[in-house]
Amino acid sequence: KGKVAIVTGGARGIGAAITHRLGSEGAQVAIFDIDAEAGKRRLTELRERGVDAILVQGDVSREGDVKRCVSQVVETFGKINVLVNNAGIGFSGKPIFEQSLEEWNRVISVNLTGPYLFAKHAAEVMVKSGGGVIVNIASTRALQSEPNTEPYSASKGGLLALTHSLAVSLAPYRIRVIAVSPGWIDTAGRVVPPHKSQLTTLDHEQHPAGRVGTPEDVAALVAFLASDEAGFITGTNVIIDGGMTVKMLYLDDKIVADSLFH
Ligand code: NAD
Repeated sequence: KGKVAIVTGGARGIGAAITHRLGSEGAQVAIFDIDAEAGKRRLTELRERGVDAILVQGDVSREGDVKRCVSQVVETFGKINVLVNNAGIGFSGKPIFEQSLEEWNRVISVNLTGPYLFAKHAAEVMVKSGGGVIVNIASTRALQSEPNTEPYSASKGGLLALTHSLAVSLAPYRIRVIAVSPGWIDTAGRVVPPHKSQLTTLDHEQHPAGRVGTPEDVAALVAFLASDEAGFITGTNVIIDGGMTVKMLYLDDKIVADSLFH
């Protein structure tokens, strides 16, 4: 029988592409999302394509919602093999002097506490299912920053550390835990499929891979990491960014001055 996967934030963007990919490979899929309307649209699409899927509405940062999701998945499908901690929120980009503690706490709650809670409760079921895989969607911003992104970068950096910590703790139960760090992925206003974008030539060409990434790029990687073929991969972070984080930049003095002093 196929695998059972929970994808948080599965209603839109990268999460939606992951539900489609895992579903097309035969998994039974639970979408967990705070946005019920978008979730219903995604659920209908999945079912139209023959995927056995359910939707659970909730907030990853609320332990009651997480527990309810895990029990509902077990009631419906009987087990959990794959958890993709994908739900995440960005940050407004305010300077540090204007950032509020509430904003910091919200980003950390959704992007870091949420994956911790889901890993904890889903792993209890995976133990009984004979093992499993947890994939945490981090970001290359865990490793490098633009100005004014403290809550987001810190939440994703924390997620990388949570990943290796869980990987070591859960190893005796045959649960692998891996982080995936996407770079620039075009999800804005996308329809699944077809996908049209308004990106410029420069947006694409500054990437060593020659283009901006797509949700399907990330979904393909997640599907591989969740498969038995990736059985020797755990605890690590896989970067999927078209080469952007390894590209050395020697900028024009004027560009540097503009970016620092504007
Ligand atoms: P998105 O905003 O398109 O989708 C995020 C989904 O998560 C939405 O459906 C939203 O409703 C849901 N969500 C938000 N808060 C939630 C909560 N508290 N509880 C449950 N669901 C919640 O985002 P995306 O671009 O697809 O990003 C997905 C993940 O990938 C995020 O963790 C993001 O940080 C990460 N990421 C994205 C990019 C990118 O370029 N798009 C790059 C690096 C990392």
